[in-house]
Amino acid sequence: MAGMNQHVIVAGGGIGGLACALALARAGVRSVVLEQARAFAEVGAGLQLGPNAVRVLAEWGLMDNLLACAAFPAALRVRDAHDGRQLGQLRLGAMALARHGQHYATLHRADLHSLLLTAVQQRPEVQLRLGARLSRCEEDAASGVRVTLEGGDTLSAGALIGCDGLWSRVRAQMLGEQPVRATGHLAYRGLLRTTDVPPALRGNLVTAWLGPRLHVVHYPVKQGERFNLVAVVHGQLPSTDDPQAWTHAAHATDLRRALGPACEELMSMVNAVPDWTLWPLNDRPALRGPHEQAQGRVALLGDAAHPMRPYFAQGAAMAIEDAWTLGRLAQDPAAGDDWPARLALYAQTRWRRNARVQQLSQRNGVVFHASGLLRWGRNTAMALLGERLLDNTWLYEGPPEPRTSH
Ligand SMILES: Cc1cc2nc3c(=O)[nH]c(=O)nc-3n(C[C@H](O)[C@H](O)[C@H](O)COP(=O)(O)OP(=O)(O)OC[C@H]3O[C@@H](n4cnc5c(N)ncnc54)[C@H](O)[C@@H]3O)c2cc1C
Repeated sequence: MAGMNQHVIVAGGGIGGLACALALARAGVRSVVLEQARAFAEVGAGLQLGPNAVRVLAEWGLMDNLLACAAFPAALRVRDAHDGRQLGQLRLGAMALARHGQHYATLHRADLHSLLLTAVQQRPEVQLRLGARLSRCEEDAASGVRVTLEGGDTLSAGALIGCDGLWSRVRAQMLGEQPVRATGHLAYRGLLRTTDVPPALRGNLVTAWLGPRLHVVHYPVKQGERFNLVAVVHGQLPSTDDPQAWTHAAHATDLRRALGPACEELMSMVNAVPDWTLWPLNDRPALRGPHEQAQGRVALLGDAAHPMRPYFAQGAAMAIEDAWTLGRLAQDPAAGDDWPARLALYAQTRWRRNARVQQLSQRNGVVFHASGLLRWGRNTAMALLGERLLDNTWLYEGPPEPRTSH
């Protein structure tokens, strides 16, 4: 029984689940990762990783692997989507390193996932089960958590960490079924060879174009060999599409119509994208307190706890920070040696920061897509405050050390 109570079930093998298993393994905790997919596919598009997340990967010894697949942009440049003028700039590159002690990286989601997967596969503490879909979980205060898989298999462990994403089953069991929140925004995503990017936009930059009811972001990935581009516009998916799918048929003509009178330079970039995929953006309201992130032996991590709009580029980073915190607590004798106590401290440490990032992501959507007076105010503030408005020291110096008492 002691052995069983020490090991953990991690539901979901996305970035959050793999990071969680790795952090626990580093603390000497065994885990079984249950992933519903039968195989991991090269899915997704670009991700940005701030110094807060890169710091964790470096601590886990993954910096060389990150250097081998990511790009490290020199600056974030904000431009007006209609007239092309520069609205603001934040130096990244060497400046991020000097200010925040770590790099600012951009990479493909599949590369980050495979980097974590390789690390997890080297750990004897982690067992990975593909094609294993959690359908139910029950807690028994004396013996632990019991998980039932689709098909009827059962497993027991000392704790269950729900890393099963936006449509989390673990969350539904903990907090009741709640529908996801449709944002009314659609993301068109494309990947192109850097040699196909218009020469004026080929620089090592994150460029964000802001316009009324739209924004477009592009940056290099794969060590600068490819560019990732995402264009966010207002709209709905056809009602016949499966909202949980990660790719939908996308028509470049619909996107061009939604972008309206965008400037020539931006359109030259959009026109260079060979294929688009469409991704409806959904989120959930922030958790209302630690009691919603952990209850007894069950806790939520990553998108299962705090799915957010991608406008602060911190979804994957918050999942990695959650995982790091859990690993830290599993290692720390002051955090107690029983799972309910550790998970309560984990939730105490994480929920407020996650909620803040989630709320700022939502606010950025409003500011990015502003028109009229709000647009004028945004542009004026960016011109006056420059880097002070765009930098986020409180965020990039993270993750915060976990609390070790309630
Ligand atoms: C296919 C895919 C593509 C993505 N592409 C991008 C992108 O291009 N850009 C971006 O910014 N973000 C993307 N994201 C989201 C981003 O990866 C997450 O916001 C972030 O990394 C947090 O990860 P997570 O592990 O918490 O959740 P997720 O990445 O959603 O991972 C959840 C995992 O749990 C598995 N799962 C779900 N339910 C069950 C269950 N009942 N039993 C077992 N396993 C289950 C899923 O198959 C998935 O592997 C993508 C996510 C996915 C799943």
